[in-house]
Amino acid sequence: MEKTKIILAGPRGKMGSEALRLIQHTEHFELVACLDRKYAGMKVKDLEGLPPFDVEIFTNPQEVFQHMHADVLIDLTSPEVGYTHAKLALENGIRPVVGTTGFTVEQLEELEQLSKEKGLGVVIAPNFAVGAVLMMQFAKWAAKYFPDVEIIEKHHDQKLDAPSGTAVKTAELIKEVREQKVQGHSNEKETIDGARGANFDGMRIHSVRLPGLIAHQEVIFGGTGESLTIKHDSYHRQSFMNGVKLAVEQVQKVNAFVYGLENLLE
Ligand code: NAP
Repeated sequence: MEKTKIILAGPRGKMGSEALRLIQHTEHFELVACLDRKYAGMKVKDLEGLPPFDVEIFTNPQEVFQHMHADVLIDLTSPEVGYTHAKLALENGIRPVVGTTGFTVEQLEELEQLSKEKGLGVVIAPNFAVGAVLMMQFAKWAAKYFPDVEIIEKHHDQKLDAPSGTAVKTAELIKEVREQKVQGHSNEKETIDGARGANFDGMRIHSVRLPGLIAHQEVIFGGTGESLTIKHDSYHRQSFMNGVKLAVEQVQKVNAFVYGLENLLE
């Protein structure tokens, strides 16, 4: 079996370093280059705490995508650069698997368009944990019967975007089936701005940021005399790696834009 040649963007990050370990332990994956914002010309093995890959680090995305032969880009960086990386990868015939969150609707639409033009697969997954994908699907199911819903997402305090990509994706899925309504009393007033959280189609999303947390979400539905809570916790970043592996394998088989890991699960 031919190995899948991978460029990884963000190798020193919390997710990126976990993805390096995934590649290290997956027989049919091969790391060919890393894209970082520093350490150009150094090798991954030269950086403390990372697996000993004898693979070069680039800081110029154009250069790495043009000069390194690769099948897939895994991007685990930040919203500002992740979009550019995915776009450049596609322009150079490399299929992006993007875990980076915080893209705008316009950016997602542009990547979808480019994927169509190039006939190349793209997987963008706000959450690679299978349990989180199920939590989102269960929430969508419940929203048919319980239109009163609020989402509480909790993450570590180094996270750059809020609300989380998972919370936004959950709200989008719920919106597909939920009878539209504005949550809370019609005369409700916030005495402190933001007290009621972000408003997505009348649903409220609350973002908690604390050290010690990884990635957690509760979707709370309220009914007459009852409530239903659907909850998922990622206690370790390994929880995302089965999803990353699946996405890298599948992105080479699909020639379309895939948004959400649920579209790759049976
Ligand atoms: P992190 O620890 O801050 O890692 C991000 C890495 O990207 C850092 O090493 C950073 O370098 C690097 N970086 C910044 N600018 C870059 C550039 N121009 N080129 C290359 N690398 C660059 O963050 P994280 O927790 O790993 O999360 C990374 C992304 O994945 C975030 O968007 C997060 O929301 C998302 N995420 C997704 C999932 C999922 O399942 N889809 C799960 C968890 C997190 P510096 O340290 O030098 O800035």
